[in-house]
Amino acid sequence: MDKNIDILKEKLYRENNLGHDELKALIDTNMKSLDEEIFNLARQTKEQYYGKAVYFRGLMEFSNYCRNNCYYCGIRKGNLNIRRYRLTAKDILDSCKIGHRLGFRTFVLQSGDDPYFTDDKIVEIVDMIKNRYPDAAVTLSIGERDYASYRRFWEAGTDRYLLRHETANKAHYNRLHPESMSFQRRKKCLYKLKDIGFQVGAGFMVGSPYQTVDNMVEDLLFLKELEPHMVGIGPFIPHKDTVFKDKEGGDVNITLLMLALVRLLLPKVLLPSTTALGTIDPLGREKGLMAGANVVMPNLSPKNFRADYSLYDNKIATGLEAAEGIDDLRERIESMGLKADMSRGDHVDM
Ligand code: SAM
Repeated sequence: MDKNIDILKEKLYRENNLGHDELKALIDTNMKSLDEEIFNLARQTKEQYYGKAVYFRGLMEFSNYCRNNCYYCGIRKGNLNIRRYRLTAKDILDSCKIGHRLGFRTFVLQSGDDPYFTDDKIVEIVDMIKNRYPDAAVTLSIGERDYASYRRFWEAGTDRYLLRHETANKAHYNRLHPESMSFQRRKKCLYKLKDIGFQVGAGFMVGSPYQTVDNMVEDLLFLKELEPHMVGIGPFIPHKDTVFKDKEGGDVNITLLMLALVRLLLPKVLLPSTTALGTIDPLGREKGLMAGANVVMPNLSPKNFRADYSLYDNKIATGLEAAEGIDDLRERIESMGLKADMSRGDHVDM
């Protein structure tokens, strides 16, 4: 390995910062030949703040209706080939009950941008969950709303909010989304969420169509500037009923590299090893944990709806990915020398 690259790695590890050209050089070098040491440094960094813990979150995908038409996403409004579903408040509470019994102390409620779930309905659901399970954290991931709505969700007791920025480059954003969607609006939402006080998650897909190395660097630098508490990174995977059905999917190793770089830039971040990573590689989730990730999100949705939340082709939702499989997942994690942790798993500064 080039001596300059060693200096860059050392600087990133010590100072948790690099400039655009430096990050680009590191990525370019790793794209030619992957350097395992970067993963070791990322793991060591994670352990300074979170030890061996891997936090478990129970994921509920409660509606696949969406008013948006993102070119990459299988639940886009324009896809007429999927069965749309919405869980009722009772379904959601039933899943929480099962999840709580299994030991989950974080519930992540995710959906398309579905106007049926008005602010009132979301507040009611969060309120019910927090009343019944005051020891559990609630995370929402329901897309773009205005400040007043986010404020109401916060006042109802929502602890965290996930909203991936998708790409930090405006021109790239506009190639992934129709004109009705706005790069500025999405970024503003993230700042609003932070301002209100949520633990906020941003993130992006690796290998999304037209993404360049410069775009990935811009993503990393945007994350460094925003300083979110969580970052969701997974490979882009094509879906057969989308504009991007014939595009190539993202690469496992580059995804792992992005996880490691995010860990090194934001040492205290909560970083999931994502379902998408586990979908393109049977050992993807484990590799993610070895590259600095420290969160897993097994699926707690009722089984008969899981296949319909089809963001991309062949999405896994059974076996280790399912909440019913947590004993196996826990065993796998422990066999890697890590510690399965079912507690709320808040960001270390919160
Ligand atoms: N509607 C909410 C939002 O916009 O944040 C949450 C649901 S959205 C479907 C969740 C995430 O799925 C997106 O932020 C996107 O990064 C990811 N996603 C969608 N389509 C994907 C694909 N084809 N491959 C990989 N990830 C995808």
